[in-house]
Amino acid sequence: MPTQKKLTPYQGKRRAFGHFYCEECDKEWTSANSWANCYQICRDCDTCVYPYKQVRKRLKVVVRIGI
Ligand SMILES: [Zn+2]
Repeated sequence: MPTQKKLTPYQGKRRAFGHFYCEECDKEWTSANSWANCYQICRDCDTCVYPYKQVRKRLKVVVRIGI
C-alpha cells in the first residue's frame, strides 16, 4: 500500500462537512463540500487552508427503482 500523507482528519472517499480556520486573517468558515486531503482557499487572503475538523454526515440513501 502506498503511503499517503494525511492532510485532513477525514480520510474517506466521500464528502464531509469541513471546518476551516485561516491563521492569516483569523477567519473561520465551514463548508458542506469538503473532501479528504483537499484544501480550500481563504477568500480574504488566498491561503490554502486544510480543514481542522471534518464531520461525516449520514446521508439518506435514496434508492430509485428505474422505470
Ligand atoms: Zn485568510
